[in-house]
Amino acid sequence: MIHIKTPQEIEEYKAAGSLSKAALRLAGSLVRPGVSTAEIDRAVEGFIRLHGGIPAFKGYGGFPGSICASPNEAIVHGIPSPTMFLNDGDIISIDTGATVNGWVGDNAWTFYVGNPSDEVKALCEVTRDCLKAGIAQAKPGNHLGDIGFAVQSLAERHGYGVVREYVGHGVGRTMHEDPNVPNYGKKGRGVKLQVGMIIAIEPMITMGTYSNHVLSNRWTVVTDDGLPAAHYENTIAITAEGPVILTQDDQGPWCNMQGGVR
Ligand code: MG
Repeated sequence: MIHIKTPQEIEEYKAAGSLSKAALRLAGSLVRPGVSTAEIDRAVEGFIRLHGGIPAFKGYGGFPGSICASPNEAIVHGIPSPTMFLNDGDIISIDTGATVNGWVGDNAWTFYVGNPSDEVKALCEVTRDCLKAGIAQAKPGNHLGDIGFAVQSLAERHGYGVVREYVGHGVGRTMHEDPNVPNYGKKGRGVKLQVGMIIAIEPMITMGTYSNHVLSNRWTVVTDDGLPAAHYENTIAITAEGPVILTQDDQGPWCNMQGGVR
């Protein structure tokens, strides 16, 4: 069932979206060669709690972290670890989510650790552009397939893979609501978008094959071929005026690609 939100509820959601983005920006500022993903996790958890939020992922389905930290070939759901250190040339996808006044924020960004190769940077830039292209389709009267088509066609034009098993989603008072928001699809197909829907759009794009598997820790999703993946996510409201990005703080809805930058 799709929960349609009132304009008042969409306003209420913004505090969760803003804190989730600020937490993501903080996470990015801590990304550097030699840092452990547990160190970033601790800082983000403290930041969210300091600002009156609750880390939305901690304990969700038993997930142990406040962030998901997914380096290189990890696509999503990486578990932060005190023994996972970032290296110059890596990329690291980080998800942050904060619950504020009962509303659940959700967003993600892939950051550069030091100086990745041009090939890897291109994957990141195109995946971010896939997110922008998807958001541009999130307007009343369009269909979910228009979002998926926009993401998929841009990614595949660059020869990249589009992950099928993990998708965007409705979000509100719980992190995952109907509908699913696939990163693939056909124009004009799927659920019709209507004013008051809040959805998380989150392209997961791979440099090689999009086929993947879950590690024995039961969480971390990695590419089968070991090539890198990128992941960018914003949560948006569908309004009569078009898409409104709810995961934005006083610096806006986008982060820097380069780690170590606030
Ligand atoms: Mg999400």
